[in-house]
Amino acid sequence: MKQYLKHDEWCVIEEGFHAEFNKVSESIFSLGNGRMGQRGNFEERYSGETFLGNYVAGVYYPDKTRVGWWKNGYPEYFAKVLNAPNWIGIDIEIDGEVLDLHVCEITDFHRVLDMKNGYLERTFTATTPGGKTVRVEAKRFCSIVDDEAGALRYSLTPINFSGLLTIAPFVDADVKNQDANYDEKFWTEVDKKVKRRSGYVLVETKKTAFQVCTGMKFNVTQNEKNVAFETIKVKSEKYISCTADLKCRQGEATVIYKYGANVSSENYPKDALLARCEEVVKAAYSKEFEQMLAEQSEAWQAKWAASDIAIEGDVVAQQAIRFNIFQLNQTYTGKDERLNIGPKGFTGEKYGGSTYWDTEAYCLPFYLVNAEEKVARNLLIYRYKHLQKAIENAQKLGFSGGAALYPMVTMNGEECHNEWEITFEEIHRNGAISYAIFDYINYTGDKAYLAEYGLEVLIAIARFWAQRVHWSAHRQKYVMHGVTGPNEYENNVNNNWYTNYIARWCMQYAAESVAYVRAENLQKFGEIAEKTNFNPEQEITNWTAICDKLYLPEDEQLGIFLQQDSYLDKDLLTVTDLQAADCPLNQKWSWDRILRSCFIKQADVLQGLYFFENQFDTETIRRNFDFYEPRTVHESSLSPCVHSILACLIGNYEKAMQMYLRTSRLDLDDYNNDTEDGLHITSMAGTWMSVVKGFGGMRVIDDVVHFNPFLPKNWTAMTFKVRFRGGTLDINILKNKIIVTNLSPRPTAVFILGKKYDVNNTAIEVSV
Ligand code: BGC
Repeated sequence: MKQYLKHDEWCVIEEGFHAEFNKVSESIFSLGNGRMGQRGNFEERYSGETFLGNYVAGVYYPDKTRVGWWKNGYPEYFAKVLNAPNWIGIDIEIDGEVLDLHVCEITDFHRVLDMKNGYLERTFTATTPGGKTVRVEAKRFCSIVDDEAGALRYSLTPINFSGLLTIAPFVDADVKNQDANYDEKFWTEVDKKVKRRSGYVLVETKKTAFQVCTGMKFNVTQNEKNVAFETIKVKSEKYISCTADLKCRQGEATVIYKYGANVSSENYPKDALLARCEEVVKAAYSKEFEQMLAEQSEAWQAKWAASDIAIEGDVVAQQAIRFNIFQLNQTYTGKDERLNIGPKGFTGEKYGGSTYWDTEAYCLPFYLVNAEEKVARNLLIYRYKHLQKAIENAQKLGFSGGAALYPMVTMNGEECHNEWEITFEEIHRNGAISYAIFDYINYTGDKAYLAEYGLEVLIAIARFWAQRVHWSAHRQKYVMHGVTGPNEYENNVNNNWYTNYIARWCMQYAAESVAYVRAENLQKFGEIAEKTNFNPEQEITNWTAICDKLYLPEDEQLGIFLQQDSYLDKDLLTVTDLQAADCPLNQKWSWDRILRSCFIKQADVLQGLYFFENQFDTETIRRNFDFYEPRTVHESSLSPCVHSILACLIGNYEKAMQMYLRTSRLDLDDYNNDTEDGLHITSMAGTWMSVVKGFGGMRVIDDVVHFNPFLPKNWTAMTFKVRFRGGTLDINILKNKIIVTNLSPRPTAVFILGKKYDVNNTAIEVSV
């Protein structure tokens, strides 16, 4: 855990340069706009520890799988989000000395992520080894208004000299993925162009043939006036720059305004990319930095007006929740239905920028509440479009008859993860896809979705489960062997309670949905049945028989569900038995030791109790929580949020708060010592849930919103908005009361602590 960042309600602030944590800071200070993004790298050269990262949405590379021993069924490739061309770079020399913060003496360093207005600012004073001191002020952003463009302002003031400043703004596409399996570069050059003060590089990915054109254009002012200067045009492989010599005077700022753009063949014909990039860069240049920044700020205020959670009385918690909401809004806007939410967003390479079950299990509720209905719907349709590939994926593993196994990791519907215990065994992910359909319909009431898209997916998933279980003559039950549950610290286990439970639920929900569509829209049902070769009588009878006899391990004496058949045979230590030096286990212990231990990576049985809480009484949830949580090391970022929500449900508010801080400050405080790889974007939606569903106690039951609020000790108020079925509610939770204001003309009902209230256009206030 690291605590070097300053607390502030709207900003993340690094005071003094922490070179030792630079890669962590680069993740935390990342910028993005849903279409592109970048780590918080420096504009000028830095020869110290750094992880350069620029990313363009939807562009990936199928890196050839690398494993020690090939197993049948492994996918041929692991998709990588591509480290894309860098448009922010400016090489700087001061009287022939390179400005490199690694070799300079740095004072007054401030790096600020202004979340309210959506920009990154860095100021510092640097003294070169030769004794020249300069003051630098740099500000940049990825525009959410012109989302193919970004802009930066880089101001440099000589403090103790007048002399020669050589600047070289560049575009560098000669970049590499750190996680390349064979140390290969993934881009090849197609074209480039460099002009007096602008330049473009057009590159193509090997194999996938995506093209991206990255461009830049810049101008320079001194004394706030444009400076006339000549440049040398430099071209090398996948690189262009314009080098200029400028005289600079002591105390006078030289300001470089640089505008950048990324356009990709995902959105334009390849032969139009260079021209389109030039157009975007020129438009940004003409709009000018200050205007773009003003628009950026206004657009961010609008985003905040819709999705902010204001916490009064606790700046640490406030900063944390805003950081999470900010990063979510930077990652996915819902504008492009081909995109999804990668676990690292635009902040790192790990997890390949691909789609995981994280989207359905963790992210969907955030978009249901904060965005237009079609955004969540598109996330579901994304999977609908991958159904055929999921059926093929199941076929490769020996399933038949239209059974679908959705991939654990995917870019285009194909599985691209290649660790057997995850690829073949972590099949619970299928359940989350069905669950998301239920969750969406429960929230929006859009039952028509079933006939349109949902039912086909539900049938295919139910078919998978029906084939994946087998009959145990010994138990006289259906069982499921050889799985990995959400807890990846146990593999190849039998009867993982969560997987068995969600499998049963999927078959039941599919059967219910079949009945619904059949009753509501017989013709459409006939079409679906024909398309999917579905024999309702036969298949539903089979599903029902399996559900009736599906084995769900539990221990009656302890009153808990068993994570898997032999969990109780383990040495049942608790996390308090671990030494600080043991953690994180995944970095300190051998894998073998982890697998044999009782320590749990993330919610497993508890994940099931979270999804299906209304099927269990509070005492059952409490017993399971009290048994499993003390054995959970929360080494998946997805873990603390679920625990925080359940802790609220069982009234363990101290634990809820502890888990809230852990989920919300996971990256800001680098809890798991892995923030340098990138931020945990998908778990940020979980953080949001821990406030709204946890402390707010929000649920939708039978088409009505419920709140069971609890305000943590240090907080004096908490406010957020809820979009629900065409209206918006403003929720203000105070020490002993909740105020609900209906911001739309249509009256609505809400339940507070189980009692129904009608909310018209005046606010209602209820003591809690
Ligand atoms: C978790 C998975 C998750 C993945 C991507 C892993 O560490 O165990 O549940 O899907 O990260 O976030």
